[in-house]
Amino acid sequence: MTTLPFTCLDPMNSGDPNALSVERARQHLLDTVQPVTGHERLFIRQALGRVLAEDVISPVNVPAHDNSAMDGWAVRFADLSTDGETRLKNVGTAFAGRPLDLKVGVGETARIMTGAVIPEGCDCVVIQEVAKVEGDTVIVPPGQKPEQNVRRAGEDLQAGKPAIPAGKLLRPAELGVIASLGIPELSVRRRVRVALFSTGDELCSIGSPLAPGAVYDSNRYTLWGMLTRLGCEVIDMGVVKDEPAALEAAFREAANCADAIITSGGVSVGEADFIKQLMAQLGEVAFWKIAMKPGRPMAFGRINAGKIGDVRSSAWLFGLPGNPVAVMVTFYQFVQPALLRLMGIDPLPPLPSFAARCVAPMKKGKGRTEFQRGILFQENGEWCVRPTGHQGSGMLSSMAKADCFIVLEAEREKVAAGDLVQVQVFGGLV
Ligand code: AMP
Ligand code: MG
Repeated sequence: MTTLPFTCLDPMNSGDPNALSVERARQHLLDTVQPVTGHERLFIRQALGRVLAEDVISPVNVPAHDNSAMDGWAVRFADLSTDGETRLKNVGTAFAGRPLDLKVGVGETARIMTGAVIPEGCDCVVIQEVAKVEGDTVIVPPGQKPEQNVRRAGEDLQAGKPAIPAGKLLRPAELGVIASLGIPELSVRRRVRVALFSTGDELCSIGSPLAPGAVYDSNRYTLWGMLTRLGCEVIDMGVVKDEPAALEAAFREAANCADAIITSGGVSVGEADFIKQLMAQLGEVAFWKIAMKPGRPMAFGRINAGKIGDVRSSAWLFGLPGNPVAVMVTFYQFVQPALLRLMGIDPLPPLPSFAARCVAPMKKGKGRTEFQRGILFQENGEWCVRPTGHQGSGMLSSMAKADCFIVLEAEREKVAAGDLVQVQVFGGLV
């Protein structure tokens, strides 16, 4: 593979001249990873959350026929008087799914229901609320417009044209559109396989009693949750001790079976250097110092599995810091966009963010982008945000309380109560 600019520096960053900005780090990941190849055909319901591999071309017009948008009277617009009432003769009823099998002639009208095919000869629907009925006669007031309340064949989707482009994430709306075309199965990209493990001799898996000085491994659970939400196939390899042989075996196995490897721990300055050395030996890995808080150190690159059979397989490596909040912040800011690209989503959605009024002051050092945890609420019709309290990078409860990140730009200094700040919302409607 080509050499990545792993050592790229960001001299524009005022806090630490060697630190990479959040934006550059994210862009570099997006420029580097490529979508996985490999498609599969799935029935429409199984395709929810998957990425469309080929354009869905509409085999039909939607709607298939001109039809009524309202309950009312199908009329010939040319019959209507512009300055007075028009009296028309009722010749029948068109129901949805039961078209009228006669032509509506001059001076005639037909009762029509929503969704019913517009009878031959008609080009306008008068809503039932404004029409008067006297026996067989329907009286239409002036002021009607041509084509009103008529849904034209193909006005939603046209036969032969792409209805949904390749690269689209299939959400409920896309499933509905595909069903509206009568298509039962589609071609989607295969799932992205992600192997993960935690490193650290202090880590204890849940189910075992906590030894003195040990901590329960929470990162594998947050990572599993975030990856599962993204629709990745997760291979959880557990906790790997800080021992060269165990780590090497874990890296090789992960690179052999996955598209991407996510590790937590072992990339910070105070860590045993052999983990970094090992990552670097097994492939091509850069150790980034990112101008952000939390989540400053991060490793990114490619790990080789070694020669397995005749193929040399390798996987992307995202070596995240160990602190639990830093894991989640770096995942959402860097790993998630990179995985969306690996999944083949195109174009990538922008990170959802908007300005909210911060109701408490916040300390902030210049030169690093900070991702504080916040709680959104509305006051006097305005979106406001309150920090969750202590913002230590080990305090995972701050993430559990929060519903957004408060993103404080690198160049920004302290925030006063009442200042506007950018927030990235955790949840969306769809
Ligand atoms: P490290 O990046 O390995 O220096 O770890 C930084 C901090 O995060 C230390 O306090 C670790 O104990 C903690 N930590 C590392 N990995 C995990 C994990 N999987 N779950 C919970 N805490 C962790
Ligand atoms: Mg560690």
